[in-house]
Amino acid sequence: MLANGQRFCNEGLGYHDFVTALLEATPPGQPPVAWLIATRAFQRRYGLGISRPFPVPLRPWLRSGYLASGPTPEALAAACGIDPAGLRATLDGWNRHAATGDDPAFHRGTTPYMRLQGDAAHRPNPCVAPIDRPPYLAVKVIPGSFGTFAGLETDAAARVLRDGSPIPGLYAVGADMASVMGGFYPAGGINLGPALTFGHIAGLHAADRLEPAP
Ligand SMILES: Cc1cc2nc3c(=O)[nH]c(=O)nc-3n(C[C@H](O)[C@H](O)[C@H](O)COP(=O)(O)OP(=O)(O)OC[C@H]3O[C@@H](n4cnc5c(N)ncnc54)[C@H](O)[C@@H]3O)c2cc1C
Repeated sequence: MLANGQRFCNEGLGYHDFVTALLEATPPGQPPVAWLIATRAFQRRYGLGISRPFPVPLRPWLRSGYLASGPTPEALAAACGIDPAGLRATLDGWNRHAATGDDPAFHRGTTPYMRLQGDAAHRPNPCVAPIDRPPYLAVKVIPGSFGTFAGLETDAAARVLRDGSPIPGLYAVGADMASVMGGFYPAGGINLGPALTFGHIAGLHAADRLEPAP
């Protein structure tokens, strides 16, 4: 949620869509910052951010300020700099529907991608549960970067192209190669999968062992 205590998107989205929604929801002139709110019981079972589930100690993350904690939603809001009334209203609204697995505002848990990331043993919705038991925890979420869709244009053998023709002996794969996904994020592994595949293809081609496509 944002500093006003309101949700701005379906938190079950992939991180590309999540950050796009965060940038769109951030008021002009303010830094893009969101918080993920959970109960301590959630953290013990699943972890939160980089903090690992029980029995890995939680205290270092609280001491360092990586995680914020509070006995009430209002106290947690104060620790994060979130509007307390906004957070309380959002949690009340969330909890009204969460017990039955519903998220009428953003429909969390309604696609296979989201449900895969959830807890299959949690019914009726692997991605939805009430946030209604203290203590409450929060982790700050800010945009980061792990790659780019841009890169060198290549052909099916991973050869770098100049004006549409391959440059002899020059291959590009991984982050150097323009992504075959064309700017979309269908699922996890879109960087490493093509990097391995085209690395293998480039190696075969360089060794003159690449079979021609049927
Ligand atoms: C936090 C995080 C999570 C990610 N999760 C996923 C995921 O779940 N699935 C997925 O598919 N992808 C994921 N990625 C993306 C994926 O890790 C990268 O796309 C992939 O590692 C790129 O590999 P690469 O070999 O092309 O480039 P890099 O891994 O960046 O390797 C480039 C290497 O070149 C070296 N180098 C740079 N300049 C020079 C120089 N001048 N001389 C010599 N060496 C140099 C660098 O030190 C580095 O070792 C993630 C990335 C991050 C950061």
